[in-house]
Amino acid sequence: MIKHALPVTREADFAAWYQAVISEADLAEESGVRGCMVIRPWGYGIWERIQRLLDDRIKATGHENCYFPLFIPLSYFEKEAEHVEGFAKEMAVVTHHRLVADGKGGLTPDPEAKLEEPLVVRPTSETVIGTAFSRWVQSWRDLPVLINQWANVVRWEMRTRMFLRTSEFLWQEGHTAHATADEAREETLKMLEVYRDFAENCLALPVIAGEKPENERFPGAVATYSIEAMMQDGKALQAGTSHFLGTNFAHAQNIRFQNANGELEYANTTSWGVSTRMIGGVIMVHGDDDGLRVPPRIAPWQVVIVPMLRDKPEDAELVDYCKALQASLARQTALGEPVRALLDLKPAKAATKRWSWVKKGAPIIVEVGPRDMAGGNVSVVRRDRLYREDGKLDSAIVTRETFVEQAGAMLEDVQVALHAEATERLKTSISPVDDWAGVEAMFADSAAKPGWADVAWSRPTGAELDKVVERLKALKLTIRNAPMGQTGHPGAACIFTGGLAVERVLIGRSY
Ligand code: AMP
Repeated sequence: MIKHALPVTREADFAAWYQAVISEADLAEESGVRGCMVIRPWGYGIWERIQRLLDDRIKATGHENCYFPLFIPLSYFEKEAEHVEGFAKEMAVVTHHRLVADGKGGLTPDPEAKLEEPLVVRPTSETVIGTAFSRWVQSWRDLPVLINQWANVVRWEMRTRMFLRTSEFLWQEGHTAHATADEAREETLKMLEVYRDFAENCLALPVIAGEKPENERFPGAVATYSIEAMMQDGKALQAGTSHFLGTNFAHAQNIRFQNANGELEYANTTSWGVSTRMIGGVIMVHGDDDGLRVPPRIAPWQVVIVPMLRDKPEDAELVDYCKALQASLARQTALGEPVRALLDLKPAKAATKRWSWVKKGAPIIVEVGPRDMAGGNVSVVRRDRLYREDGKLDSAIVTRETFVEQAGAMLEDVQVALHAEATERLKTSISPVDDWAGVEAMFADSAAKPGWADVAWSRPTGAELDKVVERLKALKLTIRNAPMGQTGHPGAACIFTGGLAVERVLIGRSY
């Protein structure tokens, strides 16, 4: 039996395993404030890779970055009734700007320093950015406005879990204004596609892009679309959202423009965001019982070189040998960028360092001992397939030159292999179900990993939809989305109402 690097396996306790990966891979830790985490260098390095790759795509589709304030006057929210209602329960509010001594050795907010108007720590920036749009947009010539910001936001979540759901999280939020509804809808779907492509190609996360049902819409949106990823325990993770806001926020924030005929019209707006939650998705999709496996595109270091140092004079020669390897790797390209290789010279045993990089999930780990050096070789381990069939570590000895030549292709191979493995899981975890009894049967056994049910429905609204939501809730289920690009008839009848089905939706448990 293989003795794995983590103290708990996915099979034994998936939730405990997830926490173990986060701590053993040095991704993040508790901060002392519930729901707020310290993101450590390896975790933040992954976030920086995500930022860089996604930022390129956001800019390539014509958007520009800018920055808006952290504090938003409460009155800005109150202008859009649905929006403020949706966020009221989780808003952190600043009411004072000074503290005074409380007479007992502590400090208390100074009653004299009460703010005239409470300030909300931004949970999302539609209101403040919309207010700027109302200044920026006067004529049809000012449209479209296409902007994005990278920022932190605060939503006072009651049940938090590192990366997946935190009270403070890092994200990007895109906000755009357009002359017509059609153009804004097109933008909403364009950015959904950017997210889908980014998730698949950079994070190696297969996702289903689709429209959320009415009850899952962003507060104030006309339509909300999401990408949904399948975790290894069969649950869904909403990994990103894109919203068509119609003229709702334009009415609330007074974003109006003069059209070509000189008439005043309200603009149509959109917003879209992905967050540090994506890192939680990467862990739950690619992690194994030895820790994380980082897809090479988002790995801060793609190749880690671990020399077997012995605290002897011969070490110097070995370090030089490894430095030459590192330099030649940096001249290679993988996945369109120079290979990122680290030489780990920390004063620790080689085996300890090897396992720490296994747990962190560096895609390729190269060990070099005096014997390897003497033969002009290196020992190479691929993180995506760590063990041989006999359970031993699958470490291949190749010449240094051969490895340098092959490193780029090997990294590309790891990226593809992780994606293929996850795609296979997604495909086999979605089951078509014909009726409600089938859904009940599928989700009856709480220990199983049922995945998602793919069902036909009539897209009920109002009270009828409320009933559907209640029935699902009793089984801890939600509708994830109605996948894009549906063709053909969805199926005979709606599994909830028995009425004529209009589309298929995915149902599952989720994070
Ligand atoms: P929203 O503005 O609500 O559409 O959120 C945009 C994206 O941010 C969602 O699709 C999630 O991926 C992510 N997100 C929402 N809430 C949280 C949270 N509490 N922690 C981390 N990520 C979140």
